[in-house]
Amino acid sequence: MNQPILAVNDLRKHFPIRGGILSGVTGHVFAVDGVSFSIAKGETLSLVGESGCGKSTVGKAILRLFDLTSGQVVLDGQRIDDLSPSALRPLRQRIQVVFQDPFSSLNPRMRVRDILAEPITNFGLLKTRTEIDARLRALMAKVGLPPDAIDRWPHEFSGGQRQRIGIARALAAEPDLIICDEAVSALDVSVKAQIVNLLCDLQQELGLALLFISHDLAIVEHMTHRVAVMYLGKIVEKGPREAIFANPQHPYTKALLSAVPVPDPEIRRERIILRGDVPSPINPPKGCRFNTRCPYAVDRCRSEEPALRMVGNQHVAACHLIETAGEPSGTDNA
Ligand code: SF4
Repeated sequence: MNQPILAVNDLRKHFPIRGGILSGVTGHVFAVDGVSFSIAKGETLSLVGESGCGKSTVGKAILRLFDLTSGQVVLDGQRIDDLSPSALRPLRQRIQVVFQDPFSSLNPRMRVRDILAEPITNFGLLKTRTEIDARLRALMAKVGLPPDAIDRWPHEFSGGQRQRIGIARALAAEPDLIICDEAVSALDVSVKAQIVNLLCDLQQELGLALLFISHDLAIVEHMTHRVAVMYLGKIVEKGPREAIFANPQHPYTKALLSAVPVPDPEIRRERIILRGDVPSPINPPKGCRFNTRCPYAVDRCRSEEPALRMVGNQHVAACHLIETAGEPSGTDNA
């Protein structure tokens, strides 16, 4: 891989739990606990897992919506996790986000024109009204909306159209990377496909890198280059799309994939039902964090944490039962 546009190295975010004014910090929520990956220009990496696995926290940590507990976030070769707010400000332009809810993510008191112009003026990308107006109309056309609709209010658009406006707002900043945080989860099935296709087209046209955070493997399968599967704050498997979908190695990945509908009725996929709920990230299980739900857990799983190991070309997984001659993958930020 060429120099990645984004590298995340051993990222940890532990939120303190405060018991009250007098009792201070009484514990921590181990939301993200040693996550590493990188994304190349023009590449989509999908971060998948059940809700509560920490994937959205990873996105927010990259956006520096809070400080990290430890680890690094490197944008185009430059560490950004330790920058002051003023030093970070010009770099914010390069990472944009599209949120899940197209209804609450747009300010209802701003016309679309002002919503889209905000990043352009904030980052000083264009100066004159004529230039900005031309850019806004071009952005509307790029996301498949009529340029004349620019003076309407957000409530005059459907959910799918609002998500297109959200994408146009992200594009307005001319970013290198867009974080799509469950960006299609709230949409109807047919609209989901349209928005995913739009993102893929824009990626090809503009060479954007996408971090696609989703619990929906069926959507991810058709649009991603690589997949990282998270469970309780850790990546348990990561690899190219073909390897993850055709040859998953980790029991958790297999269980998630078994729930994805197969369009061909001739093909039968055995459904793996996971027992119990995801344990609390306040007190994660010792050893392998998946051991309380894993149908293959053995004693070793309850005491020793498995490391990510190479199981194929650019394909790593963390499970004691995986037979491999490979060595632990070290820092593994591929
Ligand atoms: Fe299951 Fe053990 Fe593998 Fe964890 S290490 S996924 S508990 S078999």
